[in-house]
Amino acid sequence: MRFNVVFMVLDTLREDYASGLGKLEGMGFVKYENAIAPSNWTIPSHVSMFTGRLPSSHGMHEDRDTHASNFGKLSAANLAVERKGVLGELRDRGYAVQAFTANPLVSPVFGFPFPECDVFDEAGEVTEVRRYVRKAGGNWPRGAMKMVRDGKTGALVRRTYKAVKRRAPRLLDRSPLEKGSRYIIDSLESWKVREPFMLFINVMEAHQPYSWNDGKPGAEATYCYLTGKPYRLKLDWGSKYRKHAELATSRAVDIAESAARLPKNTLFVVTSDHGQLLGDQGKYDHGYFLDDALLRVPLYVKYPEGVKPFSQREGHVSTSEIPFLIESVLYGARAELGSACVAAESFGPQWPVMDFAKDDGERRALAPAYRHKVKIYTHGGDFTLDASTGAIEDRKDGVTDKDVAACLKSLPLGGARPA
Ligand SMILES: [Zn+2]
Repeated sequence: MRFNVVFMVLDTLREDYASGLGKLEGMGFVKYENAIAPSNWTIPSHVSMFTGRLPSSHGMHEDRDTHASNFGKLSAANLAVERKGVLGELRDRGYAVQAFTANPLVSPVFGFPFPECDVFDEAGEVTEVRRYVRKAGGNWPRGAMKMVRDGKTGALVRRTYKAVKRRAPRLLDRSPLEKGSRYIIDSLESWKVREPFMLFINVMEAHQPYSWNDGKPGAEATYCYLTGKPYRLKLDWGSKYRKHAELATSRAVDIAESAARLPKNTLFVVTSDHGQLLGDQGKYDHGYFLDDALLRVPLYVKYPEGVKPFSQREGHVSTSEIPFLIESVLYGARAELGSACVAAESFGPQWPVMDFAKDDGERRALAPAYRHKVKIYTHGGDFTLDASTGAIEDRKDGVTDKDVAACLKSLPLGGARPA
């Protein structure tokens, strides 16, 4: 029996703001408890969810010289030499692989091997307009004219509207709530199904911005946090995030409802790549930190008709188990999810915080932020390993010496990026 796969990531959705996903249980989904993301930001976490490997093993993670802004090259090069994880395996087995993504970081530009990939934002499909402009040799007016001639006026108007809106944001829209998911739903409804398929979806409604004045706080707020300085913006994310997370979860339910028209032999996985820091203790954005707010994510799975849902064997489940889950269903193997030791890694801020350093003193103060740290969830709680020094930090009372030793022995923590 061949099964189809839908894998939906609700980008930046914290587990404690995901109660709206409870409706999925009424649609046949099984909820897994204590799901942990292997990284605190998009690219390493998605690569883990496709390869089943931790960031230190797959190598696509931040460090002092590698940031989100210059990540494309590393990511594309590494993913090209990888076995490409479960995506590559499904393609080899003749699966049609399609992505509908509202996060441009999860697209072929960053090395993700989706043969068909449509990138959306709040103004509609980005890919289609780019395709026309590219065909016109990078000439926007000529590309636009061709779109009009081909009857693609709607997409063109949406892009133009967006460009205007960027210049006069507050006149036209009070809150940047929409981030592309309604176009994903439209695309899903008209999508021509060719079995077997692997459909990847990334929904961005829980991701910032939460107001038009948000900017990109990650780099500067983290620099301020690390150097003990006050951050200049008052963002009020604590009160705003809930509305955005609620929209993300309700769109996820809408997408699951639209997917009901898909064949019944479809495995459907819903999770998040990481959570969000909302300003507590001056921590904003995602990346760098290993707080529960970033690492605890929702995980729901709907099994194909006739397949018995896998039980949860241990207290915590890593979302890097998703390829194992998909392959076990595909090969008809019985499996359980969860592990006694579940890890998440940080190698430093994924923004160039050093650029903010005023002098050598500040550079020295920021340097320890680039240590390789691993938060490990196990029986009785969690602890953090400083993999650069071997020190155990922030160990919760319920974690025994035996648990620590067992986790350090069993986890495949590489530490260095593979050559
Ligand atoms: Zn993300």
